[in-house]
Parts: sequence; C-alpha cells; structure tokens
Amino acid sequence: MEGERQASWMRDPRPRTIEGVEAPLSRSEVLRYLGYPADATPQRPVEELLERWMEEAVRCARPRATYRVLPVAALERRRVGLLTPGGITEFGGSVGRFLAGSRYVAAFIATSGSEIDRLAGDLGRSGKALEAMVVAAVGAERAEAVEHAVLEQLNERAEPDGFRTTLPYSPGYCGMLLTEQTGLFALFGDHTVGVTLSPECVMTPMRSVSGLIGLGPSSEIEDQGNACDRCEQVNCNMRR
Ligand code: SF4
Repeated sequence: MEGERQASWMRDPRPRTIEGVEAPLSRSEVLRYLGYPADATPQRPVEELLERWMEEAVRCARPRATYRVLPVAALERRRVGLLTPGGITEFGGSVGRFLAGSRYVAAFIATSGSEIDRLAGDLGRSGKALEAMVVAAVGAERAEAVEHAVLEQLNERAEPDGFRTTLPYSPGYCGMLLTEQTGLFALFGDHTVGVTLSPECVMTPMRSVSGLIGLGPSSEIEDQGNACDRCEQVNCNMRR
C-alpha cells in the first residue's frame, strides 16, 4: 500500500449500522424472486394478491445492516486474510476473482427483520402458500436493498480517496463455502443486527444476507471488471 493514504474511517474497524432503506420496493426484483421471467406480467387475480401482500410485507419489514471495514493482510487466488484487532481472520473461496485489487474488505450482515419471516410463516401454516411466497420475496428484496445501501455508503465514503467497491461476495455462493459464515459472524460478536447463525450456518431471520465487499483503488477495481463477466455458469440467474 506504499504511496496510498486512506481516510481514517477505512482504518477504523468498529462496526457501523444502517437502519432502514430509502429505496422503494423493486417490484421487478420481487417478481424475479417469485420466478417470473423478466418480461412476464402476472394475471389479474394474481396481480391483486401481489399488490395487497407486497404492501403488507413492506409495512412489516425492518431492514437493517451492520458492516466492519478491515485491512487486507494477504490476498491470494483462493484465500484472503483480514487484519482484525485480535489477529488475522481468513476466508477461502474464489476470493482472488471477487476481491481482486482490494486493500480493505467490509464484512457485512443485512436483514429484512424477523417480522417478515413470522408473517410468511403464519401465512404458510394457514394454507396461503402464494401469499407466503410473496411476503418471503419482499423480505429477500428488502434484505438486498439494505445490502445495496451498505454498498452505496461505502462508495460515497471511499470516492474522495479514489477508492470504490467490488461486488458483494457471500458464503454459500460462487465457490465460497457456507461454513465461512462462522468466521464472518465471529467478526461481529453481539453486533449482528439481530441475525443469528445456526450450527448448520443458516441465518435467522431467513431473509438475511451476509458477505464480503472489497474496497480498492477505483482504477484497479475497474480493470478487474465484474466477476460474473468471467464466470462460466452461463445459466446463473444471480448474474450481476
Ligand atoms: S454468474 Fe452466478 S455463479 Fe457466476 S460469479 Fe456471477 S453470481 Fe456467481
């Protein structure tokens, strides 16, 4: 990192929290989570049900996120080491592809909250499967929206230093084992915005997302391009 000086916030490893999201619900994302093709329009009775339960689910959602920015101690093709006040924490996976060019990594946990899970569960148990699916899809969209708010906040703060973010990289996706959740959650202690991890590494509330976001000089991050552009999974519906 010779010759590079970053703002003090990037060198501050304390967790930060984001409460709520300003972005309105993305209907197209909800439809995508429900399995609709990009150009499809739901039939009228489904449309009415969608409107009603999207509104209800947004009312229930409590999107929140926390993140910690940590310096990169080592970055190899299949391993990244992050410097914490307690020592080095390592993550494996296709980190060389996703985090290339990163000098810092923001570990994050984002959730749409437990109420939305509860509503989807209650609907499912009372035989309202479609309604439950709509609520669950809104929960997934709200968790994604607050993850996006983390990205926006990081980019706003990093821009004056000529830095920018990579795409988020999450345990359980694109070659990172789900078990990496354990190390990620350990970085946060009790500051997990109410998200807990089971011994099987499943998050509760279910509509939660966690991962790593790289921060590095804008020119280097742009030169690396988007990890999805270099991926061979041509039918991946998570492609960004
Ligand atoms: S295309 Fe899909 S599998 Fe490939 S890197 Fe992107 S999200 Fe991951």
